[in-house]
Order: sequence, then structure tokens, then C-alpha cells
Amino acid sequence: MTKYDSDNKTFYLETLGCPKNQVDSDKIANYLCNADMLEIKDPSRADIIVVNTCAFIEAARQESIDTILALSEKKQGSARLVVSGCMAERYGDELAAALPEVDLVAGFGVPVNFSPTIGKRFLRSSDLDKSTSLASLDLLELPRTSPDTPWAYVKVAEGCDRNCGFCAIPGFRGKQRSRSVGSILQEVRALGSKEIVLVAQDLASYGKDLPAGDDKSNIVELFYQVAAEVSWVRLLYLYPTSISDELLKAISATEVPYFDLSLQHSSRPLLKRMRRSGHAKYYLDLINKIRDINPEAVFRSSFVIGYPGEGEADQDSLLEFLQTAELDWAGFFSYSKEEGTYAYTQDGEVDEELRLLRLRECQALQDEITAKKRQNLIGMTVKALVDESGWARSFREAPEIDGRISIDPGIKPGGFVELQIKDTLGVDLVGEPVSR
Ligand code: SF4
Repeated sequence: MTKYDSDNKTFYLETLGCPKNQVDSDKIANYLCNADMLEIKDPSRADIIVVNTCAFIEAARQESIDTILALSEKKQGSARLVVSGCMAERYGDELAAALPEVDLVAGFGVPVNFSPTIGKRFLRSSDLDKSTSLASLDLLELPRTSPDTPWAYVKVAEGCDRNCGFCAIPGFRGKQRSRSVGSILQEVRALGSKEIVLVAQDLASYGKDLPAGDDKSNIVELFYQVAAEVSWVRLLYLYPTSISDELLKAISATEVPYFDLSLQHSSRPLLKRMRRSGHAKYYLDLINKIRDINPEAVFRSSFVIGYPGEGEADQDSLLEFLQTAELDWAGFFSYSKEEGTYAYTQDGEVDEELRLLRLRECQALQDEITAKKRQNLIGMTVKALVDESGWARSFREAPEIDGRISIDPGIKPGGFVELQIKDTLGVDLVGEPVSR
């Protein structure tokens, strides 16, 4: 931690959106701390207020703007407000023009405009100048401080080479840029976490953009190398038709047989309209193949409801799929019309009321399945990582996304414990240490 003296500049950092954004925030924080700035929790005392935004869907953009406006009111004296993240990358110039309260709009993650002077500009509040408009700094390779949890996200690539109909990410994050295995391992070792959660936009495609001939630059090799360093490795966002047999065998054989499959829907015609590959049978075969290798395997997925052209037959297909697949966890997202995407130009818009009705129908079914799966765990003994006082997780629960296990607050955080599951608390469980 930076030692504070009266000359230290201070910063306040607010993070919105997904786990990938949290990694960026950790790197921004480390970058500023290395420049002798001090992170504080009170925005009204900060020299620089940074809002790391999310632009995934309309609701996320609104939350980002509300947060920017709320924090602009906390600015005191010569303090400066900096907006970074997806909104800065996607709407940089418009944002700078529309929000006079913002002193700098700084898109991170795209190296094209990288300039070493931007760091200084970013750091010295007196130098912040609206005319710099869209600045850019490549965060992917920047080091970060260890989080105060025993687990950490590690971003292994930025951008995406696919063009899913509903997704604006490739438009502003660009083509996939994978980090080298060496640089990822260096970060993993420096973090010293018990659990590493690898993230990328399209994790199963990690390394495909790296120079040919380096046989260590693929997701399977990366997985093995990270698994050799830490107890638990979890992979988030796996494009289902890119999962090789080697990868599913590798994951199934570890202590974390957790599969986050990015399915988005199950209806073949609708998936085609989404410009995604796969269909219900392919996905069910994949899930069954994994369950054959490891019956304990846990599955999570997310689905888009109300994509243009979605009809009753598509909804029926999805309900039937959910019923058959019996995923442990699933998230349902109402389709959001995003400028610059393929779907933006598609006809067959689904009325909002119908969209929400279908979403609730899927959610209700999945809630029943998840509840049954959680009930089935009562009486089992599980290995769990104590995240914080009163809460732990087994391999079945990804941090910040799934349920948790309520434990005695007296159990010290940071290590593994054996727990017997005694009860459920909604999607959470109640665990008691196993006495040996
Ligand atoms: S895989 Fe599809 S949904 Fe995921 S980031 Fe790439 S384009 Fe977007």
C-alpha cells in the first residue's frame, strides 16, 4: 500500500459491470498506487474520481451515467472526474461532449492510441484536459495488486473474433488479443490466490491469435499450467462448440469440474439468426459427455430472451432444453437492441411485454431446478474456500455469480475447510465444519 503523506494525490475508483471490468479496475488502482497515489473510500476527498463503466446493455449504460452524475456532485475544488471502461471505448467522443461534468474520457484496453504521456496526464489532475478527449491505455499486461479475497479473476485475452448478432463487444473491444502463457503465469504467481478464475470474452479460443508454432498457447495448455500453480482454477465463458475433448477432460479431472457454457439459446434456427453455432442436441450431448466423465460436474449458462425473430417454437425449445439439461445455474437476459450490431438491422422485434413474460417463464423453471439441485446437497461433505467472515464456497459456486455457503463467522477467511451441508437458504447453503 502507498504510504500517505500530505503530498500524495488521492483517487476514488468505482467499478460497474462484469468480472472483466473488475480486473481492469484492479490494474488501474495498481497503476495509480505505483505513482504514489492513495486509494480512498470517500469520493468527496479524492483528487481524481474514476468511474470504470459498463456499456453492455441499455440498463448498464443508464447505471453508468447515473453513477457518473452522482459522483460528479462529490467533486470538490480542483478534483477531476475520469470515465473509463466500455462506455468510454464505445461512446468516447459523444460522452465527452454530452457530459461537461467529466474531465477525461479514457478508453482502456485498446492499445492503438497508447501514449506514455497519457499516464502522466491521467495522474496529474491539473493536467487533465477535456481536449484530450479519448485517451487510451492498454491494461491487459499491466500488473495489479492482490485482492483481499482468496480468489482472483485473471483476464487472459481482450476482444473477440466472433460476430454474434446481439453483441457490440467486438465493435469496440476489437479483435482477440491473447496474453502469453508466461505473462499470465507471472500474474497468477504474484497474486498468490487459492483460486484463479480465468476470464476472456471467448475463453475457449484463447491463444488462437498468437503466432503459430507456439504449441503452449492454447486454452488446454494454459489451464494445465495455471492448475499447476493454484489449488482451484475456474474457467468462465466457454463457447460451447469450441470446447475440445482435451479441454473438457482436463477440467473434469480437477477439483473444479465447473462448466460455464455460453449457450445463449437452444433453438437451432434462432441460434443461426444470432450467428452462433450449435443447437439443443449438440449442447445436451456435450453436457452428457461431461457428466459421463464426471457425474459431479456443475453447469452454468446464460440465455438471451426476445432476440429478433424469436417465436413460440423457440421458447418451447428453450423450456424443453432447460428441463432436460438440468443446469445448476442459469441467467436470463432480456434482448437489448444495440447500435452497431447485426441484430439492430433485423426485423421480427419481440414486444417487450412478451419478452419479459418468456423471461419469467424460463426463470421460474430454472429456479425450481436450481432449488432441487441445492436441496440434494444437504448431508454432503464439501471442500470449501472461506472467502470472508461467515461465507465460503465449494467448487459448485463461482464467486460473485452463484450462491454461497453460510458458515460460522468465527472461521478464519483465506483457507479451505471441510463442511457438511446442513440446510439451504434460498440458493445459498448452510455448512458446518466437519470435526475429525
Ligand atoms: S463470443 Fe459472441 S457474445 Fe461473446 S463477446 Fe464474442 S461476439 Fe460477443
